[in-house]
Amino acid sequence: MSSEKIPVPPASNFIRGIIDRDLAENKFANKHWAGSPGDAAHQATGPVDTAKIRTRFPPEPNGYLHIGHAKSICLNFGLARDYGGICHLRFDDTNPEKESQEYVDSITEMVHWLGFGWENGNESNLYFASDYFDFMYSAAESLIEHGHAYVDQQTADEMRANRGTLTEAGKDSPYRNRSVVENLAIFRDMRDGKHPDGSMVLRAKIDMASPNINMRDPAIYRIRRAHHHNTGDKWCIYPMYTFAHPIEDALEAITHSICTLEFEDQRPFYDWLLERLAEAGLLAHPLPHQYEFARLNLTYVVLSKRKLIQLVEEKHVSGWDDPRLPTLAGARRRGYTPEGFRLFADRIGVSKADSWIEYTILEDCMRETLNEAAERRIAVLDPIKLVIDNYPEGTSEDCFAPNHPLKPELGKRTIQLSKELWIEREDFMEEPAKGYFRLFPGNMVRLRYGYVVKCTGCEKDATGNVTTVHCEYLPDTKSGTPGSDAVKVKGNIHWVSAHHNYAAEVRLYDRLFKEANPGSGDRDFLDDINPDSIKTITAQLELSLQDAKPAESFQFERHGYFVADRKDSVAGKPVFNRTVTLRDAWQK
Ligand code: ATP
Ligand code: MG
Repeated sequence: MSSEKIPVPPASNFIRGIIDRDLAENKFANKHWAGSPGDAAHQATGPVDTAKIRTRFPPEPNGYLHIGHAKSICLNFGLARDYGGICHLRFDDTNPEKESQEYVDSITEMVHWLGFGWENGNESNLYFASDYFDFMYSAAESLIEHGHAYVDQQTADEMRANRGTLTEAGKDSPYRNRSVVENLAIFRDMRDGKHPDGSMVLRAKIDMASPNINMRDPAIYRIRRAHHHNTGDKWCIYPMYTFAHPIEDALEAITHSICTLEFEDQRPFYDWLLERLAEAGLLAHPLPHQYEFARLNLTYVVLSKRKLIQLVEEKHVSGWDDPRLPTLAGARRRGYTPEGFRLFADRIGVSKADSWIEYTILEDCMRETLNEAAERRIAVLDPIKLVIDNYPEGTSEDCFAPNHPLKPELGKRTIQLSKELWIEREDFMEEPAKGYFRLFPGNMVRLRYGYVVKCTGCEKDATGNVTTVHCEYLPDTKSGTPGSDAVKVKGNIHWVSAHHNYAAEVRLYDRLFKEANPGSGDRDFLDDINPDSIKTITAQLELSLQDAKPAESFQFERHGYFVADRKDSVAGKPVFNRTVTLRDAWQK
């Protein structure tokens, strides 16, 4: 395979370095886990956690997972696996508006598909952040009681104006010094629906002059009358993400909370909040820590949720599982493999520096895993007829093709040879170009797994297109017989018997975008869509492919890897998707 020439960035493992250090220092020796998430009192009832570390993958159930998420999944679940820990699957569903069960189901399915689980004995470790709303509410009251939070009634504009800038300190809100009693009373009124949406927020009381704007009294609760998919209409106030997330980690006894770089500036608030709640006795040490890594950027792909939605809603693709989309549902349908994604995650590593990863690295990972796993079959994608004029009419014979050249134990299968075959149009040239070794009048080639044939000519239609090629076979030259080496030929072509074939719909997928950085400069990313990203053909396949099961992958010899479409295939009539070609056609 071509992996040797691919520039593979060194797999930096700074997070593993941190975990090694934490474990060497016995940092979690006194961390208790009662078998389910909860506050300090709850966890104290349990034994010392047997999981060496706890990580989590915390998707918001407001969309489909994509290849970027696969990096985070492989990282978090991979660390837990390698260190004798557990990775939780946590739905970060604290935002009532955009979330739904459909996304929950699809995310669960895709994490499983990538090869990861979250169960530990009887514990499922699949959690919903909205189950922690009661605790979050009491944590907010605790902050108020300790003078660490206040209700602010400035308008949104006033709040923005008073936040200051990178170079200028912010201004204290006129509501900043309300008494604890007053704050508690108003916050309870907020909870009880006595104030309109957006009329006030609860803010942490930290420092309006902090050089880190995120520490300038961030909002932690807002009023929003919205139905929540889990808690229904119980709440009309909802916690802000920056307040909810550290608490979710702490209640789940997470040790290493790994997120993307844009949260780096939130880390001081993450630590501030958990320290305050630990001081109040609500949480126990050791507290979780946040570590940031660079998100995945992949050439020829868009991973932004907004752009993906646009591609689907404006029908540039057929749906969320269109095989050209970088969603995991699309990639799976395309024939990409979980092993390939895990290899990819290992190969690109984890770093703190933003960079672009070449799409070819992902494709090579898929080629490598499919080369290992996929059985070989024969397919003629652009068929023309080859007639062996001296072959007896009405008969056929067995030829034997190995199922996997790297795995002889998988044996051989029988394919039928007869007088009329399908071959690739490109395997015949009436007037051969220089260095062309395949069929042309007077030349000999081997029909792979069959005989040596000598080309005698061709037939053409009125417009000059070749419709049929003629040849004669040399009966003593069959592959696997003593005579097979008697005649040496340079060309070796594949074929399918025209009487033992399956004419199938095959979709030749290519990259969805023709530019490495879709929409860069002032272009609209839609203008960079590759107009040839799908070509649907009728191909002539060897008969055995008629029995391919949905989602089964094969290497079509000389062409690439193909998968039976999991959606459109019916029994006895599979449709095939091209996963990836054998070689990279995009290298300049
Ligand atoms: P949103 O913009 O709606 O937050 P998101 O892609 O971040 O979208 P989440 O559901 O919040 O979606 O993501 C879940 C996890 O996946 C987060 O921890 C996030 O850091 C991680 N993640 C998302 N995109 C990438 C990416 N491109 N590379 C690596 N990790 C990613
Ligand atoms: Mg996010």
